[in-house]
Order: sequence, then C-alpha cells, then structure tokens
Amino acid sequence: MENKVVTRFAPSPTGFMHVGNLRTALYSWLWAKKNNGTFILRIEDTDKEREVAGAEEHIIKVLKWVGLNWDEGPIVGGPQNSYKQSERLDLYKKYAQTLIDKGLAYPDPYTAEEVEEFRKKAEADKKAFLYREHRPETFGVWDGTKPLRFKIENIKRYEWNDVVFGDLSAGPEALDDFILIKSDGYPTYNFCHIVDDIEMNITHVIRGQEYIPSIPKFLALYEALGVKPPIFACLPHIMGKDGHKKLGKRDGAKDAFEYKEEGYLPEALINFLALLGWHPSSDQEVFTVEELIKSFELERIQKSGAQWNDEKLDWINKEHIKKLSSEELQKNIFEWLPENLRIQKIIPLITERISKFGDIKKMIEIGELDFLVKQPEYAKEKLIFKNTAPEKIKSNLQQAIKALENIAENEFTSENVKAALMQIADTLESRGELLHPVRFALSGLDKSPDPFIIADILGKNETISRLQKAI
Ligand code: GLU
Repeated sequence: MENKVVTRFAPSPTGFMHVGNLRTALYSWLWAKKNNGTFILRIEDTDKEREVAGAEEHIIKVLKWVGLNWDEGPIVGGPQNSYKQSERLDLYKKYAQTLIDKGLAYPDPYTAEEVEEFRKKAEADKKAFLYREHRPETFGVWDGTKPLRFKIENIKRYEWNDVVFGDLSAGPEALDDFILIKSDGYPTYNFCHIVDDIEMNITHVIRGQEYIPSIPKFLALYEALGVKPPIFACLPHIMGKDGHKKLGKRDGAKDAFEYKEEGYLPEALINFLALLGWHPSSDQEVFTVEELIKSFELERIQKSGAQWNDEKLDWINKEHIKKLSSEELQKNIFEWLPENLRIQKIIPLITERISKFGDIKKMIEIGELDFLVKQPEYAKEKLIFKNTAPEKIKSNLQQAIKALENIAENEFTSENVKAALMQIADTLESRGELLHPVRFALSGLDKSPDPFIIADILGKNETISRLQKAI
C-alpha cells in the first residue's frame, strides 16, 4: 500500500488545452497505469483572474476523448472531499495556520506601492529584488485582509534529483518569502499544490520544466511542513518546427481537441505525444495504448526539447488507421461523407489516399469524389494517350466495352474487370492506349484510382455507359 504510485494531472482552467498539457497528463497517466497506481485529476482553479469559463469542461472533454481516465477527481470522486482547489480552501487555511503557529508565515505588512518601491530600488541598485530582505522583525496577526507570506527559514543551497534532468541545485537567490494566501483569500499555486500533493499522497510529480526554478521554494516548504518531497520528473519543452523555440501559436500549436476535429484518431495522437520526449528501448514507433503502458519508463524521457513534427503525426495516424477493424474504419469514414457517398466499396479508395479522416473533407471540397456519383465532364483530348490516333483509342474502347459486356453483372469485380481489360491491353503497343482512356472516361480526373476499382464501384451499367460516352 505504502509504495503505491500516485500521480496527478493538475491543470488550471485558464484556457485551451495545449498539446503540451496533454503530454504531461499522458506521462503521468502512463506511469500510474504501468505501476498499477492511481492517477488523479485535480483542477487548480485558485487564480480567479485568469480563469476561463468552460475551460474545466473542455479539459475533461479532451481527456475523455483520448481515454485518459482518472481514478480520482471530478465526476468520479474519491477519498478527498473535492478535487477542485477552490473547494478546498479550509484545508489550505489549516496548513497556513500550522505554519503561522511555527512562526513560519506572516502577514505582509506593506502596501502594494511600498513593495513596488522596494522593487524599483533593487533595480536601481542592479540587484535582484528579494522580498525577504524586507521581512519585518516581528510578525503581526493575520486577519486575512493582507497576503500571508512564507518565511523561508533556511536560506541555503538546495540540491535535489530530477528523474529527467538529473542532479540539480540552486543557491539562496532562488529563495524568497513567497505568498501563501492572497488577500482575496485564495492560496497561490506555490502553496496549495504542495498541500494537495501531500494530502493526495502523490509519489511522482510530473510536469513541465518551467517549474524547475521554483523547486527550491517547494523544497523549503516541504521542509517547513516536515514532509518528505515526492519524486520530481520535469518534462522538456516541446519545440516548434524550427527546433529552437517552444511550440507556440505561430507553429500552429493547437488545442488538443482540434486534432479530433481534424479527424485524427485519439490512439494516434497519444502514440505521437508519447514519443515526443520519450524514447522506448527499441525502434518501435507504432504503439497501442497497452504497449505504451508496458514500455513507458520515466528514466527514458529525454532532457532536450522534443520537436513537433506534423508529418510524423500524420504517418503515425495512418498506421493506426491501418489497425482499425473494417467496421471501425467504415464508421469513421462514413462520418465524414455525405449520405450519397456512403458506399462501402469506396472505403479502400479513400483509405489509401488519406492520413487522417479530415482529409476526406478536402477530397470532397475539391470535387475529387464527384465522379463516383455523377458522370464526369472533361475535354475530349484528355482521352488521348500520348500520340495514339483518336481512331485507335476509339476502337480500343469499343473492344473494352465488348469484353466488359461479357462479364455477368454480379461478377463485375475489380479483379474480373482487370483480367478482361488487361487481355486487350497486352495486345497493344502500350497498355496506356487502353488503360488511360478508360480511366479518364470513368473518372474525368488527371489523378484517380485505377480504372478497375472505379469500374467495380460504378457497376457494370454505369461503367459501360461512361465508356460509350467517351467513344
Ligand atoms: N496548475 C499548474 C499548471 O497548469 C500545474 C503544475 C503542476 O503540475 O504542478 O501548469
């Protein structure tokens, strides 16, 4: 029981769900699953100014879509009274009182203007501003109207180990008397996330590397509370396509849910994000979720920034499309097709041409699928193959019609059509003299699937009618 791994994902409902956040959630989830542990979802909503309406529901929607289910948290509940920080204020006050009682927390005696003066003075002296240099000699009684600050007692160098970044340390300059509870009554992230991590028995804190500079402060707080800190694993930034800057809006950093809207499979996005900063011990690149759980190791997370790569995501998505059962494939494809195009036979034709289901939308928009439901329009010259004489093309098409007429309607499959047409094509100087005009007559497109598949989809009557029109 004591050694049970407990991880958490602790988003702030301040806006959209960046793919980097989703990766953090994924790594925490994978680590819990791998160790038969507990994965907790906690909503960190104490920054009321930055809160965005609907953001919490949005986070939950994304997690559900990708299947990162939580063992404790909103909706599912658990041993805690609530998994939302704004509903745990009494608990933070209790911890604050413990610190006050130990003489390790005090009300800020200064006005905001006074603090600003200190800051300006430090700047003029070319020094880093440290609040603790102005720490009052004696502490007043905290009545809740002033911020409550943490008195960092041991101003020293802290050393710690990060599973990803290795041995780290920071000197006293990283330590200051930070605010525990603001004058609006809400605790700061720095304070309440530690209370929560303690209360929820979190064993592994997995989060972005931007938190590394704050860790000495957290360690000082753990020390003050007399609690052993959890294991820290900070994740490298996700870099944009140029590899130098963090993935930002400019690189098209999207809300994770947009990938659903673009027709990516959740298991593919998970697979891609897993590999963004973590490397398995083998060369395997396509993973099911179960395989990820099995292979995932915190120790194999890379220190250097992982680079976003749309092409790789598309490739992985295509690989996952290939893994779908025919029922799942049909269901997904039909969702993107208008009713008149929901034809089972066109599934392979579409599958071969997409890397995500949203590509179907583009195919429809540019009219690439129109030929399946209506006779194509095209300039007659398009039927001519290289320098072949039009008369020759015509007689080839006539032969083709004859051959196709001999196939029974219920045997009009792409294999049989191919056999019939190839028999003729093989007698010609070049197969293109027949196959090109047939393909064009059937599709009206410069680029299209092979004519046998199209014929199969169109059926015998429609195929022959299009060839006749061409003649
Ligand atoms: N609420 C913080 C965030 O969204 C959580 C950081 C952490 O995991 O401790 O970045």
